[in-house]
Amino acid sequence: MSAAILDGKALAEELRTTFKTRVEALTALGHRPGLAVILVGEDPASQVYVRNKVNSCESVGVFSQKISYGADVAPAVVLGKIAELNADPNIHGILVQLPLPRQFDEKTILEAIAPEKDVDGFHAANVGALAQGIPCFIPCTPYGVMKMLAAHNIDPTGKEAVIIGRSNIVGKPMALLLINAGATVTVCNSKTRNLAEHTRRADILIAALGKPRFVTAAMVKPGAVVIDVGINRLPLETGGKLCGDVDFETVKEVASLITPVPGGVGPMTITMLLANTIESAERKSKL
Ligand code: NAP
Repeated sequence: MSAAILDGKALAEELRTTFKTRVEALTALGHRPGLAVILVGEDPASQVYVRNKVNSCESVGVFSQKISYGADVAPAVVLGKIAELNADPNIHGILVQLPLPRQFDEKTILEAIAPEKDVDGFHAANVGALAQGIPCFIPCTPYGVMKMLAAHNIDPTGKEAVIIGRSNIVGKPMALLLINAGATVTVCNSKTRNLAEHTRRADILIAALGKPRFVTAAMVKPGAVVIDVGINRLPLETGGKLCGDVDFETVKEVASLITPVPGGVGPMTITMLLANTIESAERKSKL
């Protein structure tokens, strides 16, 4: 039997409708939410991501400011801009599009963002709060995954959750969220031995490794919920389409629920960025 589809695009649209009302209420009180996005260099993928973020802000009434620098900009210039934005009362969220050019130490840049404006949730203060289960800004991609699970009444309590990937932006925060939600969590990486033995135990399997169609049906427990975080561009000679880390066509015959790529986790990531920015403005309005 074919799996049901976890439609991230539809859920994102539903959530964004509720955001509009919250933004209108804040704007009426003089606290229109504002997001500043810093882009360094001309990486085409980063330019697309930043454009999508700015357009998404506009679609729900959030003010957005895009700040672009050439690839050779000195880190001190970007740090100066972050300090300025930290002090700007019209800006509630600051994000620096990653990756940054070689001359940058990403950690130094991310730590310069005021934790209360760190809507990407990458600052050590927010990561630490997440680890302790304290309310904080949650990194947008894993936050979106948790929203998708909740929308389909999937309670992680007592479930075996297996995550492929241990990055700071996806794998690790995903693990913390699932631990906090009561799942038994295994985090795999490129050195994991007998990967399929782990993945076949998963009631909830999260693929976040960045390898096209890596997860095959043989790696999936029948009835599992499969979340595909991967976004990979196939070679032009094979059509140049986007695909995930999961071999969707075969895995959907084994799983009970599965996210497509595109239209799964991707739309939820930007939606949760909006959610964090609006929440930041709401916190400020209550000060
Ligand atoms: P990343 O920083 O490259 O991390 C990849 C992780 O996967 C690493 O921990 C790596 O292990 C592990 N890995 C690689 N090959 C593996 C293998 N054969 N077996 C087991 N583990 C393996 O990537 P990322 O930033 O987390 O992103 C992962 C994917 O998600 C990418 O396709 C990215 O484009 C996508 N993404 C999507 C969204 C969205 O909105 N949908 C957001 C962010 C990222 P090691 O640590 O041992 O190297």
